[in-house]
Amino acid sequence: MRNDIQMVDLRSQYLRYKTEIDIAVQEVMDSCYFIGGPAVKNFAQNLSNYLDVAHVIPCANGTDALQIALMALDLKPGDEVIVPAFTYVATAEVIGLLGLVPVMCDVDPISFNSSLSDFKTHLSPKTKAIVPVHLFGQCADMKDIMEWANENDLYVIEDNAQAIGANYFGYDAPKKAGTIAHIGTSSFYPSKNLGAYGDGGAIFTNDDDLAKKIQMIANHGQSKRYYHDMIGCNSRLDAIQAAVLNVKLKYLDEFCDLRRAVATQYDHALENLNEIEIPKRSSYSTHVFHQYTLKIKHGKRDQLASYLSEKNIPNSIFYPLPLYKQNAFAEHFKHILPVTEQLCQEVLSIPIHPELKEDQIAYITDSVKEFFLNVS
Ligand SMILES: *Cc1c(COP(=O)(O)O)cnc(C)c1O
Repeated sequence: MRNDIQMVDLRSQYLRYKTEIDIAVQEVMDSCYFIGGPAVKNFAQNLSNYLDVAHVIPCANGTDALQIALMALDLKPGDEVIVPAFTYVATAEVIGLLGLVPVMCDVDPISFNSSLSDFKTHLSPKTKAIVPVHLFGQCADMKDIMEWANENDLYVIEDNAQAIGANYFGYDAPKKAGTIAHIGTSSFYPSKNLGAYGDGGAIFTNDDDLAKKIQMIANHGQSKRYYHDMIGCNSRLDAIQAAVLNVKLKYLDEFCDLRRAVATQYDHALENLNEIEIPKRSSYSTHVFHQYTLKIKHGKRDQLASYLSEKNIPNSIFYPLPLYKQNAFAEHFKHILPVTEQLCQEVLSIPIHPELKEDQIAYITDSVKEFFLNVS
């Protein structure tokens, strides 16, 4: 029995780039610029070139990035922010933390992302912003969302923690995920597609005024040292993480290609099973496969999950409970969202990362097939 398959293989990846990463980290140690300094500056510049966005403001993590983005919008307590109910908790948590009201919307059953109609349903006079999430590595269809938001004076923040490197094709020229809305945010949590060796995050914008404000908020609301114009917070990407990210950024497109190659192999092996729906690709976005997420029909998801776990194949349910049913958000529980409910029952993510080997992929897909042929 194989037991070396992991959801994310950070060790193999480190060993592959060890020489470069060790040199980069040692440079930070030698420079003693532990906060800020050249490593952070270089990384922000390189990422801004890669994304073709005017401003990249690094910060401490992806949750802070969302919080700081919202803080820059001058919203008032009670203002409503529409957010998908099928996402990681951070997207909605920061809204509640700032005294704003998270209004949860449904998602599309095929793309897992909220489309314009999902946001539209929840528009009220109190709506001030919306937060589309590019879930599992594929962009939400942003063009219609942006047009509608601009007509209704709504700010749009893209939560791009899961789709860094994806291209969106809704406009004449392709745009990178995270650079389409007024503000984009990302996370460099180690298991993300561009992962640090600790926490990290960043905020993206093409708006010079918003960029200035975001920079200030992330740095104690400070415009000049020891002069504070607004209440901010302390959120920094540390230099060692920036050094690691600077190396990995060079290989991000290669990581995306390798993830897509794994996905294609999964597709071919699993597409003919009746009880499974393989993830579909949207025409308007590339997929960078932060997750490879199957839909398992006829109530067999949990049984398949246990079967795979018994065979030492890691698997995860992203996400098991709609956000409005979490105790933390119970007060916002206004309506059942049918697609979110169904996805929470059906989704199962299997390992996907650039280091996954052919024999591991075969062992995983054979085990899934075996379950449906012999066990269930
Ligand atoms: C990971 C993630 C975040 C939070 O990022 P952290 O760096 O862990 O704070 C936010 N939103 C989504 C969709 C995520 O996947």
